[in-house]
Amino acid sequence: MDPAIPSPRFRSHASRNIPPFLAGIFLGLTLLHAEAQTASSKSAWPSRGDAIGSLLTATPLERAAFEDDAALHAPIKEAGPGDWLAQHDEKGQTFDAYRLILPRVKPRTDLRALAILPIGEFGPKAPSLEKLRRYCELFFAMPTSILRAVPVDKVPAKTRINSNTNKRQLLTTDILGWLPNQKPAVAYAVIAVTMEDLYPDESWNFVFGQAMLQGGAGVFSFARYDPSFYGDTSATDLSTLIFKRSCKVLTHEMGHMFGIKHCVFFECLMNGSNHLDEADAQPMRLCPVCLRKLHLHVRFDLLKREESLLRFYEEQSFTNEADWSRKFLGKLRPHSSPLK
Ligand SMILES: [Zn+2]
Ligand SMILES: [Zn+2]
Repeated sequence: MDPAIPSPRFRSHASRNIPPFLAGIFLGLTLLHAEAQTASSKSAWPSRGDAIGSLLTATPLERAAFEDDAALHAPIKEAGPGDWLAQHDEKGQTFDAYRLILPRVKPRTDLRALAILPIGEFGPKAPSLEKLRRYCELFFAMPTSILRAVPVDKVPAKTRINSNTNKRQLLTTDILGWLPNQKPAVAYAVIAVTMEDLYPDESWNFVFGQAMLQGGAGVFSFARYDPSFYGDTSATDLSTLIFKRSCKVLTHEMGHMFGIKHCVFFECLMNGSNHLDEADAQPMRLCPVCLRKLHLHVRFDLLKREESLLRFYEEQSFTNEADWSRKFLGKLRPHSSPLK
């Protein structure tokens, strides 16, 4: 299928976290979008236990990592009126459902690298690409490289000026049509990152990012992660906030590129988000359902991955994330063996 054609294979993220007069416009427009018409029906979702799936044949370490442990994982919160699940019909993807689609998501087992492709300029306020690369490498436990940056005018994507912000936007579906050809031969997936604003079709105000569930390509923008995009220059040190938001959107979008759909079971990195407040409230970690999916795909060492993430969180002073990671490691360590 032509990846430039919008389809349910794409996952989009838009935000209403803009001045109220813009939010109204945005909501009106999103209702026109095919994927944004109905709220999720919570009663139809599988239970959290069914979503995790049977752990009978799992190793003790896997059981410790994937079981529903209330001390580590909170069930997903009720959605507020402007939240993602109030406006999008998510069915919930169980681990067993993921296992069935894995051969399609991962048609080749030899592709064990990721690539980040910068589009346009990354000025002094942009997040560090090297730190993002490292986070991505630790999170997915795959070697990750940064490709040579491509100037905006060299990307074959339609542009428009957003009438609310008067800022240039690039059409994501054009980028996603071009991107697979930029993917290195050894890479499982390539993700384009940019400080330019994005839109997925004419009826939308903007999107944070968009990824293909199959095909190994995605694009996301950091533009709206800086409050100064909306004219708010009151905050003094925004670099930690912008970097954390960028880490989250990068790994969330890449999670989709591993075939993981939005999570409706726990508070989780893979929850959908409709606005920045909702995205900021979501954790950087995966819940047991989504971690089990990623583990099935990548087959990483659960303990080593968490230890390296803990070191990263400590280095970046991500205190809450580091605290959680220590707690999780405390649970995993007694079940590790030298053979694992
Ligand atoms: Zn998403
Ligand atoms: Zn999850």
